[in-house]
Amino acid sequence: MSDTIEKVKCLIIGSGPAGYTAAIYASRANMFPVLYQGEQPGGQLTTTNEVENFPGYPEGITGPEMMIELQKQAERFGTDVRHGWITKVDFSGDVHKVWVNEEKEIHADTIIISTGASAKYLGLPSEQKYLKLGGGVSACAVCDGFFYRNQEVVIVGAGDSACEEAHYLSKLCKKVTMLVRRDEFRASKIMAQRVKNTENIEILFNTETDEVLGDGQVVTGVRVYNNKTNEKHDIEATGFFVAIGHKPNTDIFKDFLDLDETGYIINAKPGTSKTNVEGVFVSGDAADHVYRQAITAAGTGCMAALDAERYLAAKDSDFEVATSSYN
Ligand code: NDP
Repeated sequence: MSDTIEKVKCLIIGSGPAGYTAAIYASRANMFPVLYQGEQPGGQLTTTNEVENFPGYPEGITGPEMMIELQKQAERFGTDVRHGWITKVDFSGDVHKVWVNEEKEIHADTIIISTGASAKYLGLPSEQKYLKLGGGVSACAVCDGFFYRNQEVVIVGAGDSACEEAHYLSKLCKKVTMLVRRDEFRASKIMAQRVKNTENIEILFNTETDEVLGDGQVVTGVRVYNNKTNEKHDIEATGFFVAIGHKPNTDIFKDFLDLDETGYIINAKPGTSKTNVEGVFVSGDAADHVYRQAITAAGTGCMAALDAERYLAAKDSDFEVATSSYN
């Protein structure tokens, strides 16, 4: 352990659109934010190819490029962006303590949590191969469905997300095949019924993925098996969507913050970014299991920075709310 403790006004944990937007606002408000990027600098968007639904990019932009731009914008106003992984926190006292890589200790007046959530994948080597190649595996129909217009796709999952995404894809794609591993849906009746009533969605119950098939560059199909009969068959498809849930990256906060049963941070006051601990704010997917979009994450990043700024101003009369951040 290091014996020098660093003190900061505003510590931002996470480097997706929520974290960088919070950083842009916090640095323009003279909060001198320090941002730790975490294990996956740039967050979930770095696993996305083209982002076409973020306002302001009429020609689209790749996820990694967008995150580089957001980082540059945050740094332009003075954000101290650092590599590092927050491994432990202690929010039990007046001072919010965090440890970086088990070593460095930081005391922060305000903390903005933007650690996001990670989409779950099946973990098959073929799935991971085409995910890394950007060749047709995705965990976000709203982000990537558009690229499969008039094509045939497969989606795995049977929860509300899978039903919502299958329905979304059915409006764009020629055919959607939905793989459900049990003989029933987990989703609410109304969502399951909507999928069942959609003509171009075929539901295969008791069916799991054996292998994602491809030509070495892009997905060309999916080999599936019936888990009752073990019979296999191939389905032609150019896209393979995985909708089996997300895991919010909130484990290190569980002893201090109120989380729901899945691990999402609960907003102490709906409509704000406040958590149950004063001075600790949350933005992005760590508290959002409904919208999960880059633009909504960015919006809540802005809210968290403004809430943190007001908190500092109320606590410390020397700290003036910078009007520039409200422009
Ligand atoms: P869920 O955990 O509800 O569902 C995950 C689904 O994925 C389950 O059907 C599960 O199957 C399946 N699954 C898990 N692992 C595998 C695997 N290895 N192979 C095949 N299938 C697998 O996650 P969701 O993301 O759907 O929903 C999360 C929460 O968000 C829920 O509370 C949901 O209600 C809510 N939500 C609400 C929406 C709305 O109201 N509009 C929209 C989206 C989400 P099994 O059933 O066999 O376990």
